Amino acid sequence: MGERKEITRRSFLNLVGASSAGIAGMSVLGLPGFNQLFAQAVKDVPVLWLPAGSCTGCSVSLLNSLSPTIQDLLLGEVLPGAHVSLQFHPTVMAGQGQQAIDVLDQYKEAEPGSFVLVMEGGLSTKDGGVYCEIGEHNGHGIPLKQHFDELAPKAMAVINMGTCSSYGGIPAAPPNPTGIQPVGEYMKAAGMNTPYVNVPGCPPHPDWFVGTVATVLLGGLDMLKVDEHGRPLAFYGKLMHDNCEFRGNFDKGMFAQNFGDKACLYKLGCKGPVTHADCPRRRWNSGVNWCIGSGSPCIGCVEPNFPYKMDMYEVVHIHEQTAPDAYPLVGGEKGGGVDPVTTGIVGGVAGAAIGVGIASSRAKKKAATADSEPKEG
Ligand code: SF4
Ligand code: SF4
Repeated sequence: MGERKEITRRSFLNLVGASSAGIAGMSVLGLPGFNQLFAQAVKDVPVLWLPAGSCTGCSVSLLNSLSPTIQDLLLGEVLPGAHVSLQFHPTVMAGQGQQAIDVLDQYKEAEPGSFVLVMEGGLSTKDGGVYCEIGEHNGHGIPLKQHFDELAPKAMAVINMGTCSSYGGIPAAPPNPTGIQPVGEYMKAAGMNTPYVNVPGCPPHPDWFVGTVATVLLGGLDMLKVDEHGRPLAFYGKLMHDNCEFRGNFDKGMFAQNFGDKACLYKLGCKGPVTHADCPRRRWNSGVNWCIGSGSPCIGCVEPNFPYKMDMYEVVHIHEQTAPDAYPLVGGEKGGGVDPVTTGIVGGVAGAAIGVGIASSRAKKKAATADSEPKEG
């Protein structure tokens, strides 16, 4: 067996920066030598993690990472004495009470750009933000919004962990009684110039967070290429539908009619055709499976309109067909197309409609395959 080549700072940045597909499906935490590289990079950069309007699921997702475990990264077992300097995280830190609040206060006086601020959840803004408080001074609760207003302008960058902090998510559900705002939108309205990046997902994959933090710390903010919704292209640059194992079924018009059917889940409301993330390749729980692989339609949890601006079971309208990225057609000749008549018969009414779309797109297939960057739906 050949020796495993350890990843270097340069090769990691090439992976995440050179092309949006470079790191798709690769376990960031599993890259040979990544632990040491990351630990060396972050040992001097404190990270403050503020929980806002959220369910803490994003923290749980991050804590679920394996090889190394997140404990290894946090507690310095990867390299003795070097670890992620997580200074404040209410769920996992040992400090409590005034001792913990003192840490936050200390960073309000810190040098600008000396720490990274992670936001988990939407920012409650109504009535001065009193519906979400952390700690107290002189018997009065301190609104999270107040902590954020004092910390965010001093941060090197704000990382919005999860769909709630990125776009509002579930806590912003109408009628949004606590005035939840997406963190980035709030910052823009408040005139804060601190750069921010969105790492959406309900919850996000641990690799998406660790990979984003590593990119910022190893290569600087300029290395982070994001899309129009502020998401790193390295993880969110591809359309789910183009890498799905059922894409061949979709093109053939073979749709699941009921939950449990082993076929494309489009007619059961799958949002894969309009959702951008690398779940089909990266998979979850250390690569074991993913939503569609376990029979659930993708609910588009990384998109700004999740979950209340589209019905979970509504069939999505596909504005523009794109060629499959990785999977061959089912039953189609290699390099050939699908007979639109067959597609219509097999797939029923919806299949026929899609078949027409596909038929018209086949003329473009060769060019589209050569340039398989996702087309916006
Ligand atoms: S509609 Fe959903 S299940 Fe069907 S191919 Fe696209 S992503 Fe996969
Ligand atoms: S498959 Fe869809 S619903 Fe599942 S985690 Fe990925 S983006 Fe979210």
